[in-house]
Amino acid sequence: MLVHQSIADFRQWRHSLTGRVALVPTMGALHAGHLSLMKLAREWGEHVVATIFVNPTQFAPHEDFSQYPRPIDTDLAACEQVGVDVVLTPSLEEMYPPDASDVAINVPAIAELLEGVHRPQFFPGVCRVVLKLLNIVQPDAAIFGRKDYQQWLVVDNMVRDLLLPTVIIPGPTVREADGLAMSSRNVYLSPEERKHALGLSKALSEARMMIEESGESNPAAVERAMKQTLLAHHVVIDYAVVRHPRTLQPMDIIDPAMTQGVVALVAGTVGRTRLIDNVVMAGA
Ligand code: AMP
Repeated sequence: MLVHQSIADFRQWRHSLTGRVALVPTMGALHAGHLSLMKLAREWGEHVVATIFVNPTQFAPHEDFSQYPRPIDTDLAACEQVGVDVVLTPSLEEMYPPDASDVAINVPAIAELLEGVHRPQFFPGVCRVVLKLLNIVQPDAAIFGRKDYQQWLVVDNMVRDLLLPTVIIPGPTVREADGLAMSSRNVYLSPEERKHALGLSKALSEARMMIEESGESNPAAVERAMKQTLLAHHVVIDYAVVRHPRTLQPMDIIDPAMTQGVVALVAGTVGRTRLIDNVVMAGA
């Protein structure tokens, strides 16, 4: 496995390739969720590229950019184990050249909902860094986790609108045995908070039961139940909603005729750690 820090070196390697290139962009602190995306990439492309870059522009000043975990040696070993061909670990200076002034990307409207309300800097920062990474790597496909459901939709929308020659492929959410969605931020949780964090996946399981098994068709009733579960687990709620799976718009009724189903999304803070999770389910 090759590791490139320099973008120029990476481009030289990229230039010589024939065959499909699949990219998995990450911020490192890799867990089984990231690795599952790399395995998907391995199935999809002849060449698998992973990037590890903790992107400052998607963090607000009060967020955890400086304390974000950066275990680079174990990350590289994990990439090698799942068959990544090249890891790009670009420097901050190369990704954000000090002599180039910021170019803002007008994010898709879907980026203004949910996460966009609670973290207004997040999607502009994500779109900016993903566009940079796609320009460097020029992949045929890029794999994004459904764990960050809205991020997947926003990136997919950006790529289609800007006519980038990359297919965005979603990978399923990988969970711990008890249901907690894997996240690099889970390491911040104390043992007590780790129990409270289960409120997110429990709320989503409950939503699934209500809709798929009990035939509940009122989104407000499902949202009320999810909020109760989150509060019972001491989660400080940002949102707990049932939405259209492509537009993320609210719906008056959960209609069994909706072949794409619905998505339930939750976000909140446990202690000082902000967590998100979601589940797509069949309509009632
Ligand atoms: P991050 O390093 O948190 O920016 O995530 C990099 C990629 O991994 C994104 O596409 C995430 O959606 C994806 N990802 C993070 N957690 C999971 C998970 N538990 N299961 C599947 N994909 C994940």
